[in-house]
Amino acid sequence: MSKQYKYILDESKLPKAWYNINADMPVAPAPVLHPQTLEPVTPDFLGVLFPMNLIMQEISTERYIEIPEPVREVYKLWRPTPMFRAHRLEKALDTPAHIYYKYEGVSPVGSHKPNTAVAQAFYNKEAGTKALTTETGAGQWGSALAMACNFFGIDLEVYMVKVSYNQKPYRRIIIENYGAEVYASPTDRTQYGRSVLAADPNSPGSLGIAISEAVEVAATSGGAKKYSLGSVLNHVLMHQSVIGLEALEQMAMADEYPDIIIGCAGGGSNFAGFAYPFLHQNFTNGTKTRVIAVEPASCPTLTRGTYAFDFGDTASMAPVVKMHTLGHTFVPPGIHAGGLRYHGMAPSISTLVDHGDIEARSVQQLATFEAAVQFSRSEGIVPAPESAHAIRAAIDEALACKESGEKKVIAFNLSGHGHFDMMAYQAYHRGELHDHDYPAEAIAEAMTHLPQVN
Ligand SMILES: *Cc1c(COP(=O)(O)O)cnc(C)c1O
Repeated sequence: MSKQYKYILDESKLPKAWYNINADMPVAPAPVLHPQTLEPVTPDFLGVLFPMNLIMQEISTERYIEIPEPVREVYKLWRPTPMFRAHRLEKALDTPAHIYYKYEGVSPVGSHKPNTAVAQAFYNKEAGTKALTTETGAGQWGSALAMACNFFGIDLEVYMVKVSYNQKPYRRIIIENYGAEVYASPTDRTQYGRSVLAADPNSPGSLGIAISEAVEVAATSGGAKKYSLGSVLNHVLMHQSVIGLEALEQMAMADEYPDIIIGCAGGGSNFAGFAYPFLHQNFTNGTKTRVIAVEPASCPTLTRGTYAFDFGDTASMAPVVKMHTLGHTFVPPGIHAGGLRYHGMAPSISTLVDHGDIEARSVQQLATFEAAVQFSRSEGIVPAPESAHAIRAAIDEALACKESGEKKVIAFNLSGHGHFDMMAYQAYHRGELHDHDYPAEAIAEAMTHLPQVN
């Protein structure tokens, strides 16, 4: 029998509804708290930042929420995305395991992020929003939202972490190409940015600072601008569920079912988007798939952070949520997987890790790039450094199968391609990258700044 490499769904198989894990959570969610009062937030506090239709999605417990037709029409530009059987990688590893990967790098901006960007732009347009603000690290989220805002006729201001703005110009130019404005954060456009620059004129910026700036601009716009976040929030994770819903169908086409599901986790959106539809099967159909979230050892939120209430941003302006956190004062080391450097984690993922439904694992930078290079040499695709964390774990599981002789089915999410991350690959090939464990003292210090919630 000839081997099948790709599992391709017809456009008619594009999911008609998103899957919302809130309907199936084994433990009740912790409340979201107001950053000043530390009391549960009211919808009108969130209403300063987000349109009411997205706030309703954020707190919804409906299992399936219909994907609006205009969103599906944009999704069809690249969805359904392919699922591959990694025959060549299996051979290179000499493993009896079957390895599958879902590839989100076929989107116009090269990652999974437009799955929520398009939905958020649509709902903001419906709610009458004229302009959005957001932050971006290396530019993946900024480019996704810029594309989406352009499609739906919404203005966009992007606060881009300064070190990336200067060192990684390509995604910034993509953002500008879609017609959005990009600023190197910290900027002098916000009170918070000015305070950071006053303390350190050479501040390289951070995701937490950029979030604070984007939030401040929206919150002080008198309702003219709303804010958009690319990960962490419930509705963002839900929009990403199209990945896993398609993957369930594609595994059925392959006549297999995964024993192990793997994704990399920064704020958690691509991981959850891929994994939650499979967790739904664990919760309701008795499947026993192991679900593994992989993060960098240098930003070990799930594996070494504390499960506690913390601010979503550095300036303590964003809502306080219960999550695994390295502390909102966390200063990320300069690793190359820019998308995995957030101090917190999506609350639902934190809850499910705490409850034992999801395993968390950290991997080192060098082993991650080694896996990325091995993957590109067998499968051809040069993965995003973020996605390479999932590849590392998938390879490790496949090697464990080689040891044990087990023929497990392993499926991972390849969240994006690495075509704009070539400087990171160059640094790896030149031997300039190093492993890095985030220091225990730094974590302990950051924990002293957590909000005191009763
Ligand atoms: C942003 C990004 C991530 C990390 O974000 P999550 O919300 O954790 O998915 C992972 N992979 C790629 C390619 C990204 O662009």
